[in-house]
Amino acid sequence: MYILGIESTAHTFGVGITDGNRILSNERDTFMPKKGGIVPREAAKHHYRKAPEIIKSALESAGISLQQVDMFAVSQGPGILSCLKAGVSVGVFLSRKYKKPIIGVNHCIGHIEIGRLMTGFNDPVILYVSGGNTQIITYLNKRYAVFGETQDIGVGNLLDRVGRMLGIPFPAGPEIERLSNGGREYIRFPYTIKGMDVSFSGIETYVKNIIGIKRREDVCFSLQETVFSMLIEASERAMAYCGKTSLIITGGVAANSRLNEMGKRMCAQRGAEFRALDKEYTGDNGAMIAYTGYLMMNEGKTEIRPRPRFRTDVVEINYR
Ligand code: AMP
Ligand code: MG
Repeated sequence: MYILGIESTAHTFGVGITDGNRILSNERDTFMPKKGGIVPREAAKHHYRKAPEIIKSALESAGISLQQVDMFAVSQGPGILSCLKAGVSVGVFLSRKYKKPIIGVNHCIGHIEIGRLMTGFNDPVILYVSGGNTQIITYLNKRYAVFGETQDIGVGNLLDRVGRMLGIPFPAGPEIERLSNGGREYIRFPYTIKGMDVSFSGIETYVKNIIGIKRREDVCFSLQETVFSMLIEASERAMAYCGKTSLIITGGVAANSRLNEMGKRMCAQRGAEFRALDKEYTGDNGAMIAYTGYLMMNEGKTEIRPRPRFRTDVVEINYR
């Protein structure tokens, strides 16, 4: 059964095609602002403009035609409204034109399910770290329950904001990671963790005051060490509390080697399992939406519309 999944919640327009739990293709294009952060209208324009060619290349890589698609899946949120509208309207158009069903998927659950598929971990604690979201999640009573989350901005957003202060263009994560390897001095940043919740805005303010005083490499190094320690500490607490013996790190920031290394080490210390995700599937992508659509296939009809504040824990999970 061929499912074509569309992802467009923020910077990336992605299309993935799956056949059951086999991923046949995963194409995308990420909007890169010339300067500053993402302007919603410009990102949405990018998505509309890129949609035809990304759909075409995903079909080509999968070796199927649009007529052969059995179902469409779209990422409904959370995300930026104008960006969501782009993906949802393209999906609804295709579904009507080809008279095939369409299903709405929660973007965060997409990140979780692709993580479970890739690692083979059935019941892990999930550290979901992306631009807009930072949550510590585990499955409980037919929901993905959020045990901890950021009280302000997402960790990727923090990295991107600090990047902007350092003159690094969006997305800043990879360049911060590269610079951090040249770090020598650990600068003590505010370390804010309450239970399993974290907060990053104090760090942003702190960094603002040391830009130009401290070496860039040391800022990046200290930033990574501080925020990743916070996240791994909160994840460990969730594992201990829920009695879970595996950890998945998913979302765009999960591409970071240092974060994965910390996750791996923490798990080893408590006799738990860890497996890093392939970078192909950490950031926003269409394959995770198609695959989650496949899992949700029998969940019944839902209204397809953009849901900018769609929370992970409001979705009832019946396929597990
Ligand atoms: P997503 O919205 O899930 O695609 O995640 C995007 C976020 O991931 C952006 O904030 C990026 O800066 C961040 N990111 C991408 N690669 C890395 C990396 N290697 N290290 C840290 N953050 C990263
Ligand atoms: Mg994401």
